[in-house]
Amino acid sequence: MKDQNEILLENEKAFKSLFEHATISILVTDENGDINLVNPNAEKLFGYDREELTGKPIELLIPEQLKEIHRQHRQHYFKAPKARPMGLGKDLFARDKNGRTFPVEISLGYYKLGAKKMAVAFITDVSERKKAEAILRSSEETTRLIMNSALDAIICFDTNDCITVWNPQAEKTFGWKENEIKGRRLAEIIIPKHYHVIHETGLTRYLCAHETMVLNRLIEITAMHRNGKEFPIELTIVPMHQNDTDFFCAFIRDITERREAENRQKEYAEDLKRKNIELEQFAYVASHDLQEPLRTVSGFVELLKRHYKEEANENVTKYINYITDASDRMRRLVQDLLDYSRLGRERILEPLDCNQVVHQVLSDLTMAVQESHAIINIDMLPTVSGYATEMKQLFQNLISNSLKFRKPGGPPVINISVMPKQEHWLFQITDNGIGIDEKYWERIFIIFQRLHTKTEYAGTGIGLAHCKKIAELHNGKIWVHSVPGEGSTFYFTLKKRDTDVWK
Ligand code: ADP
Repeated sequence: MKDQNEILLENEKAFKSLFEHATISILVTDENGDINLVNPNAEKLFGYDREELTGKPIELLIPEQLKEIHRQHRQHYFKAPKARPMGLGKDLFARDKNGRTFPVEISLGYYKLGAKKMAVAFITDVSERKKAEAILRSSEETTRLIMNSALDAIICFDTNDCITVWNPQAEKTFGWKENEIKGRRLAEIIIPKHYHVIHETGLTRYLCAHETMVLNRLIEITAMHRNGKEFPIELTIVPMHQNDTDFFCAFIRDITERREAENRQKEYAEDLKRKNIELEQFAYVASHDLQEPLRTVSGFVELLKRHYKEEANENVTKYINYITDASDRMRRLVQDLLDYSRLGRERILEPLDCNQVVHQVLSDLTMAVQESHAIINIDMLPTVSGYATEMKQLFQNLISNSLKFRKPGGPPVINISVMPKQEHWLFQITDNGIGIDEKYWERIFIIFQRLHTKTEYAGTGIGLAHCKKIAELHNGKIWVHSVPGEGSTFYFTLKKRDTDVWK
């Protein structure tokens, strides 16, 4: 059996070991505030040896500006000492041998040593914890700033569909204040009744089977404002997981204005399409109907010529020839107009080897090519999907123009090439002809616009208008760059399709 003394001795040993090995810093002071005991952890924390601290006032370990107030608190404590945390609700700071000030948490204990009152301070350095708290606070602050300044409405809701986050833009978009809707069900607040089932099915599918049909993608649906009005929104719902909890974050943008603009654009395009059809019909009917009276005029002029061949004096013959020329020219114009309005009428898209199309065109133009001694270089061209007659006409007009508008004094040199682009083929037809002043680069594509008289260069001014219409029929464009006196390059694009082949 151990006697009382032995037990006391063992306890003392245990407490001493506890004191020496404690991972918390422990300081014992007397009523005067002088340090009596220091454990190794406190030596480490404050950077002083035990001998340097023993007998010194505890204020040695307090930052300068807090020393006086600490002294007062200490004296006050000894009037009614008891175990308690120190400075509850306040930030406490200590100071080490190097003068570094750091935040601490202190628990105070108390015991009597004979007549002496002793205070025990259990000190924890909380610098790391405070730093982590500061980082957390600042990241929370950043999140709040982002939420407040986001142009999107940001709404978070839990797996029961209850709203947990509702940023200021959500207030603007839906007309509800955050404190009015927190905890209420999303479906009830922003989703029109006829979408409730879809919304709930989506949620259940995700929760039960992790099906993510509508998650993580941009979708367009109809939402409901507080005033009951429905409006289109663009929405992305992202599933999230934090602190063992599943929830969803919805990023929402009101697209009413964009939809209205799209609708206006659509109406405008439809209107334009209708007007173009009307115009084409008008051109077709007008040119078709004009042919008949023209034929009559030409027929009777022919009769006049034949019947009054002998009697007609010089003037009559001259005037009759004027009428013949004019009506011939008018017939050509009317025919051109009719062709123009017919372009692409019976459209069938088919694969066209542009190499073959160009060779066919050149064989039709053999005379003009030979007469002008033209040099024509053709790159490898693709097989595209196009309208056969129209595509032939496109190449024919451009090549024959390059031959026609050649510079005197040398053979025309024509290069035909193509470049594949992301969405389309870019064709180029370059010549070394007379060129075109920049101010006419757009005008020449308008129907019947010419830069020369018919005596200088034959033609009616419809060729490039045809080319423009043909390029547009193939979802493309046509334009020119040119240096007067040096030559021109006509560019046109054709929409690229998966079936196209090149090289
Ligand atoms: P046309 O050849 O019947 O005059 P187009 O519509 O084909 O009608 O051409 C319009 C005008 O554009 C021509 O009158 C001519 O002035 C100009 N042009 C067209 N192609 C060329 C070219 N390769 N070089 C210089 N001018 C050209």
